[in-house]
Amino acid sequence: MAQVSDFLVIGSGVAGLSFALRAAEVGTVIILTKKERADSNTNYAQGGIASVFASDDSFDLHIKDTLTAGVGLCHTDAVNLIVREAPERVRELEKWGASFNHWEEKGHPFDLGREGGHSRNRIVHAMDRTGMVLEHALLDKVRNHPNIQILENHSAVEFVTEHHLMGGGKTQEDEIHCWGVYALDGKTGEVEVYLSKVTLLASGGAGQVYLHTTNPPIATGDGIAMAYRAEAEIANLEFMQFHPTALYHPDGDSFLISEAVRGFGGILRTKDGEAFMKKFHEQADLAPRDIVARAIDTQMKISGEDCVYLDVTHLDAEEVQKRFPQINEKLLSLKIDMTKEPIPVVPAAHYMCGGVLTDLDGHSTLKGLYVTGEAACTGLHGANRLASNSLLEALVFSKSAYENTVHYLKNNQIELPAIPPWNDEGTFNQEEWVLISHDRREIQRLMWDYVGIVRSDERLQRAGKRIDLIAEQIEMFYKKTKVTPALLELRNIAIVASLIIRAALFRKESRGLHHTTDYPKRDDAHWLGDTVIHGDNIELRPLLSSSAR
Ligand SMILES: Cc1cc2nc3c(=O)[nH]c(=O)nc-3n(C[C@H](O)[C@H](O)[C@H](O)COP(=O)(O)OP(=O)(O)OC[C@H]3O[C@@H](n4cnc5c(N)ncnc54)[C@H](O)[C@@H]3O)c2cc1C
Repeated sequence: MAQVSDFLVIGSGVAGLSFALRAAEVGTVIILTKKERADSNTNYAQGGIASVFASDDSFDLHIKDTLTAGVGLCHTDAVNLIVREAPERVRELEKWGASFNHWEEKGHPFDLGREGGHSRNRIVHAMDRTGMVLEHALLDKVRNHPNIQILENHSAVEFVTEHHLMGGGKTQEDEIHCWGVYALDGKTGEVEVYLSKVTLLASGGAGQVYLHTTNPPIATGDGIAMAYRAEAEIANLEFMQFHPTALYHPDGDSFLISEAVRGFGGILRTKDGEAFMKKFHEQADLAPRDIVARAIDTQMKISGEDCVYLDVTHLDAEEVQKRFPQINEKLLSLKIDMTKEPIPVVPAAHYMCGGVLTDLDGHSTLKGLYVTGEAACTGLHGANRLASNSLLEALVFSKSAYENTVHYLKNNQIELPAIPPWNDEGTFNQEEWVLISHDRREIQRLMWDYVGIVRSDERLQRAGKRIDLIAEQIEMFYKKTKVTPALLELRNIAIVASLIIRAALFRKESRGLHHTTDYPKRDDAHWLGDTVIHGDNIELRPLLSSSAR
C-alpha cells in the first residue's frame, strides 16, 4: 500500500526541514531520511551564515563578493535573491530557536565573523557549531509539529514517474511528472511507495565520491543520481569545491578546520614555517578557497610533504579556545594543542556547486519535483561558492519552493496515478558484499587521484574509462541483488562520479573550481555558460537568469 502525503521531503538537513516547517502549515508532510534524523552536512557546518548586518557592509558588496567568487557563471537574479533575503532568514532562524553569537558592545547585533572571499565581516555564527545549532533548532520544531512525520532509515531509491506506470511512456504534454519515490526501509529491507503531488528533494551533496572529504557518510549524491536517472537536467558538476583545510591525521576522519580560523588570523605555513600564501595571492590566507586549495596542492607537490600547517600559536590562546571550542576539543582528543603547535591540514572535497538544475522557485525540469540545498544547482554559486552562502541558499530557496508549491497545487488538478509495487523478482541476497566496499573505495581513490583539484584530459579520460566499467558491473550486480542501503549508495556514487567526469571533460577551460593543465586559462569567448547534462546529451547552456529558464 502506498503512503500518501500532501508534501514529500527527501532529507532532514536545513533545506528539507525548513521547507517541511512551512509546508506543514498547509498540509501533511512525510520526511524520509536515510539514517538518523540529524545525520546531514548541515549538522557539520562550522563557520556560519553570510548576511549583511554590519554598518560598513551592503547588499551590493555581498553580491559583488559572490559574483567574484563565481567567476562569471553566477546567475545574478539568484544572487540578488539570496543576498537580499539573508537578514530576514537569519532573524527567522532566531525566532525558530537557533541562537547565534551577539556582540553588542561593538555596535553590531551579531558577532560577525570573516571568511575567505568576503570583503566585510558578515558571517553570523554560533561559536564554531553553527550547523549543529541550526539542525537541532529545526528538528525541535519539526518534532513538535502534528503535521510532520519523519521516517528515519528510509532511503529514497527512485522517483516515481511515467517510467513506472503500467506500460511506461510519457504524458500527452511529453512532460515527465514526479509523483513521489520508491524508498527502502532499512529495518525491514522492504521497498515501499510514497506518493505526493509535491516532492522536495533535499538530499544534500556528494563529497563521498572522493577519498578525502569533509562530508559525513550520508553525502553520496543519491538525489543527483536519482534525478539523472529520471531524466531531469543536471548542471555544473565539474565545480566541486575542495576545502583547503581538513585535518591531516590518521584518526581525524577528514575533520574540517573552518575557514573562520584563517579569518581569525590563522596563517598557513610549510613544515619549515614559511607563510607561503603571500606567494600565491594578494589576499594571502584569505584568498578564495579554490586558490588556497590549489596553492596548498602546489606547495605539497613542491615540498613532497603530505600536509601543510595552519598556525594560530601567535594569537591569544584563551580567545582561540573560546572562539573554536569544537575544533579545540577535537584536536585535544588527538593530542594536538592548537594554541601551542600548528595544525596539520590537507584539502578535501567539501561542497558540490552543481546539482539538479532548478529555476528561482527551486523547480526542477520534472513537474512536481522541487530541489533545494546542496542537491540543487540554482545558479547562485557559478564556478565557485563563496564561503557560508550555502546554508543561506538552502533557507532562501526552500522558502521560494514552498511558496511556489502552494501556487502549483492551487492551479493544477493533479491526480496521483496507481503505481505498481516495487518489483524485485529475480533478485537474491548476495553474499559478495566485499565487492561493494571494494568498488566504493576504488571509485573514491580514482576520483581523488584523477579528478581532483588539478585535472588534465588524460587523467579524466583514464578515470572515465575505469568508472564506466565499474558502473556497468555495479548495474549488473544491482539488477540481480536485493537492494540494501550500501548498494544504493554505491550505485549512486558511481553515477555521480561518471557525471562529474563527463562535465569536467566537456569544459575546455580553467575557471573557478575546475582547473585543467590542458586549458589553463579562462575562456569567456567560448565557455560562459552552464554545463547541462540530460541523459546522454551534454551542452553548454548560455547564461540566462534563473527565472528565464
Ligand atoms: C564540515 C562542513 C562544514 C560546512 N560549513 C558551512 C558553513 O559554515 N556555512 C555554510 O553555509 N555551509 C557550510 N557547509 C555546507 C553546508 O553545510 C551544506 O551545504 C548544507 O548543510 C546542505 O544542506 P542540505 O539540507 O542541502 O543537505 P544536508 O544537510 O546534507 O542534508 C541531506 C539530507 O538528505 C538525507 N539523504 C541523502 N540521501 C538520501 C536518500 N537517498 N534518501 C533519504 N534521505 C537521504 C541525508 O541523510 C540528510 O538528512 C559545510 C559543510 C560541511 C560538510
